[in-house]
Amino acid sequence: MKFHASTISRVSQFRNKAPFSFHSSSKLSSNHKKRCNFGIAFDIDGVILRGRVPVGGSPQALRRLYLDSGELIVPYLFLTNGGGIPETKRAKELSELLGVNIMASQVVQGHSPFRNLLKKFENELIIATGKGDPALVMSEYGFKKVLSLEEFASYFESIDPVSQYKRWTTMPQSDRKEPAMPRYNVLSERIKAAFVVSDPVDWGRDIQVLCDVLRSGGLPGGANNNQPPLYFAADDLEYQAAFPSKRLGIGAFRIALESVFNRINPKRLECVTYGKPNPFVFKNAEVILSQLQSSSRQDHSKNNRVPGSHPFEMLYMIGDNPSVDVKGAQQGILGFLF
Ligand SMILES: [Mg+2]
Repeated sequence: MKFHASTISRVSQFRNKAPFSFHSSSKLSSNHKKRCNFGIAFDIDGVILRGRVPVGGSPQALRRLYLDSGELIVPYLFLTNGGGIPETKRAKELSELLGVNIMASQVVQGHSPFRNLLKKFENELIIATGKGDPALVMSEYGFKKVLSLEEFASYFESIDPVSQYKRWTTMPQSDRKEPAMPRYNVLSERIKAAFVVSDPVDWGRDIQVLCDVLRSGGLPGGANNNQPPLYFAADDLEYQAAFPSKRLGIGAFRIALESVFNRINPKRLECVTYGKPNPFVFKNAEVILSQLQSSSRQDHSKNNRVPGSHPFEMLYMIGDNPSVDVKGAQQGILGFLF
């Protein structure tokens, strides 16, 4: 594989047993399946893809995790802090770019843990922002009353005092729309939570509108009130994209929002961040890898398993960012109890 050794971090292990090895240059045989006792989590940006271009031999490396028949023999998933599109769509896109059949369950994005907040906000009015289609992402998780921050802002005249200049420069005439009737009564119904699903596109507008929502208790233009919960899908300060040097990420946006909010509001901003290196993300990845392992082994090795035993002797995280990939994987060791 093309990954540099320093970017590979072991996240859990049984010291007395050797993991299955990739040293053979040929594809894994069906006989080897029984001995595959490890799982892999791949970062995407800078490891598998750079922009939309595969890095090195990543497609060939991934193909070695399948039999010629297409059956998955090494449980693996993608663990990325990126996002903005539903996991189903991202899996399809990755399958096309990498030439292997990737399931939605193998794609864990920064916002995937937002699913766990469904009980709390399923029928509450919430807003979501970020590149891609953040409202669709949240709707697919089951949230019933989601507005994109863009749509939400369109119902408040002059909430973004420089919006007309942005339309002239960034939006073609044919794409401009007059605000429709609000789908919800945003002038009287409070926003119960705000979600930064992916990298915000219009930082100025988003900082302005989020400050309005958060300091007013969910009703922009209203008096100061308790801050609704704010969730970030990740907290990466920078990430590697197609440009030669790293780009500012959600973490940079969080710092910008926090700095402004704390200057204009008497109470400091409260928020929850997900994504790597949050240990929860790695525990969740382990659960998904276990499910993949179970489904790939059920026909030939199920009877050899000790009930309740952990299927893996080793889990690997392959990433390019020491502060999120390696740090998170190392923290994950503490949570791996067998
Ligand atoms: Mg990366």
